[in-house]
Amino acid sequence: MKQKIILASNNKHKIEEFSQILTDYEILSLKDIGYYDDIVEDGETFLDNALIKANAVREFLNGKIDALIVADDSGLCVNALNGEPGVYSARYGGSHGNNAANRAKLIKNLDGKKDRSAYFICMLVLMSADGSYEYFEGKTYGKILEKETGDTSFCYDCLFLSDDLKKSFGEASSSEKNSVSHRFRAIQKLKQALGFKNQ
Ligand code: IMP
Repeated sequence: MKQKIILASNNKHKIEEFSQILTDYEILSLKDIGYYDDIVEDGETFLDNALIKANAVREFLNGKIDALIVADDSGLCVNALNGEPGVYSARYGGSHGNNAANRAKLIKNLDGKKDRSAYFICMLVLMSADGSYEYFEGKTYGKILEKETGDTSFCYDCLFLSDDLKKSFGEASSSEKNSVSHRFRAIQKLKQALGFKNQ
């Protein structure tokens, strides 16, 4: 039987991505363990927020399931804006998850700025039942475009011109994006820590 990892998320794409990479493990979502509460992510850093999620799951489990816990937090940091939107990425434009408002605010705040360099960051926490943890960071670099290009469905993707791909994440296929993404890079580090070979 595969060892279980509980991913502190219900996001289908994330569950899939983790399952495809961490093939030796059974990846369970919050729903799978019966966790339905909202987790308030009010930390000041990506690590704070990932720890808030991991600890919420750990307290909920209370040692009842023998599993590792993985939690992530991610966002976009723009150098000319002192790292904004940062931990506020999901609600930069006001309400949580309003992609169009988030992008409009970013475009406005960067108006007239020469330096448009930015990076996406993903912070992953791997926590054991006793609360001990390790964390892994993945980053991917690029520039913020003045206009949206390609698929607009995932927040800042259509404004992020990837240094690696030389096109926006909105224009990239999901496999292209996943090969250079902040999340992929953090998961690779996690995979190494879990003892996967050939990495
Ligand atoms: P979460 O960590 O998945 O909750 O992501 C927080 C927020 O960061 C998202 O709602 C997006 O606004 C932004 N974000 C994180 N990763 C990406 C990405 O790969 N593309 C576009 N936006 C992202």
